[in-house]
Amino acid sequence: MKQKDQALIFEMSKPGRRGGSLPENDVPDVNVEELLPADYVRQEEPELPEVSELQLVRHYTALSKRNFGIDSGFYPLGSCTMKYNPKINEVIARLPGLAHLHPYQPEPQVQGALRLMHELQASLAEITGMQEVTLQSAAGAHGEWTGLMMIRALHEANGETQRTKVIVPDSAHGTNPASAGVAGFDPVTVKTDERGLVDMDHLKEVTGEDTAALMLTNPNTLGLFEEDIVEMAEIIHNAGGKLYYDGANSNAIMGKATPGDMGFDVVHMNLHKTFTGPHGGGGPGSGPVGVKEELVPYLPRPLLVKDGEQYKWDYHRPDAIGRIKPFYGNFGINMRAYAYMRSMGSQGLHQVSENAVLNANYLRKRLEPYYDIPYPQYCKHEFVLSAKRQKKLGVRALDIAKRLLDYGFHPPTIYFPLNVEECMMVEPTETETKETLDDFADAMIAIAKEAEEDPDLVLEAPHETVISRLDETKAARQPVLRYQEQ
Ligand SMILES: *Cc1c(COP(=O)(O)O)cnc(C)c1O
Repeated sequence: MKQKDQALIFEMSKPGRRGGSLPENDVPDVNVEELLPADYVRQEEPELPEVSELQLVRHYTALSKRNFGIDSGFYPLGSCTMKYNPKINEVIARLPGLAHLHPYQPEPQVQGALRLMHELQASLAEITGMQEVTLQSAAGAHGEWTGLMMIRALHEANGETQRTKVIVPDSAHGTNPASAGVAGFDPVTVKTDERGLVDMDHLKEVTGEDTAALMLTNPNTLGLFEEDIVEMAEIIHNAGGKLYYDGANSNAIMGKATPGDMGFDVVHMNLHKTFTGPHGGGGPGSGPVGVKEELVPYLPRPLLVKDGEQYKWDYHRPDAIGRIKPFYGNFGINMRAYAYMRSMGSQGLHQVSENAVLNANYLRKRLEPYYDIPYPQYCKHEFVLSAKRQKKLGVRALDIAKRLLDYGFHPPTIYFPLNVEECMMVEPTETETKETLDDFADAMIAIAKEAEEDPDLVLEAPHETVISRLDETKAARQPVLRYQEQ
């Protein structure tokens, strides 16, 4: 007989069983019913499970094992960079001298923390080729919005209020057009050509006097380097626009290519991707923004500056777009990124990018005989597959993703970018061993064979998870988050 599911705490409940005991009430003459308004006084006992302390511990432990995270297995989620979060980062971020600081402590008391932030800004500025960096923005999308607001302020200062359009490739992350909209611009789509790169003729067509900026991810979300970037920068700059670099995922470029040299004016990075901050599950992020000299006056207030040997906050910034976050950004996640960069060193970060690209190309080559690869050239840190071939057998990218769960892998990103049919976007990252990559390739190849020989096995997957296939729309729109007895 198999042990019962330890997560089912309500089913395990037995009347009178207790996980803890409170001392007798020794406060005399307290009548709760008199102290509280009548509406607040319970008429019935709450329906809580009655279990022992050990049962409760097993309940939460069982629930925790139902999560999937990078610490439990391979997580090749394209664009999201689910790489290993080194545990030394946690040690550093939790040092009492950092973790117990209060953001309102006077500057002379927190010089050490300010120094680390200043050094982190300088490292990020060097990696991206920017003049100055703010650590305030709390996520990639927040960084995009911050950058675009600065571009807007610059155009307004120049009297160029007709610049209302932001050009975004059709392969871009969904946050790009959304941020452009929230910053008060109209997003304009530029097409991807048969190479998987920005269609240069179309770019020329949509660029004009109303262009505020081009937002670009490079390598783009197909994992391909935009080789025409220098010409693109010329086109946009000649028209009076600015170049925005979506560096959420900088895993392929560190020490290899610099957005500043490519002609970009503003960059954001996701410290919770490239720089090993944990993410997923809605935890705190950090999306620092770097700018070239011309945009420095517009950086959010306050700006951290070094004055002689002292670090201080500069609030006297009349052209700043304002403050965009309480205090100074998500300090803890910034410290994790700092710890990572210092422990890797610049040589280490070079190697990260090399191995990230090597791993992606290795997987791409292993899967090429079994799946369509719409853009067969060398990729950078990620690549896309198409399940077009499997779709003819009735098996779609979603089904393959579900079947991967049975093999113990988190699926890749699916149906993104939108311009690839039945898209699966794979980013292995540099932190995986060759053995893990091979196991994943073997699982993908096995599923491709199942699609041919026993498609129902794939269509009905997952078979091994606690809950099998969900109605995903309903799960998102009408989530049942409360225990309900069957
Ligand atoms: C993740 C990502 C973003 C958005 O970052 P968030 O921190 O989730 O807001 C933007 N662009 C690209 C290319 C990304 O991969």
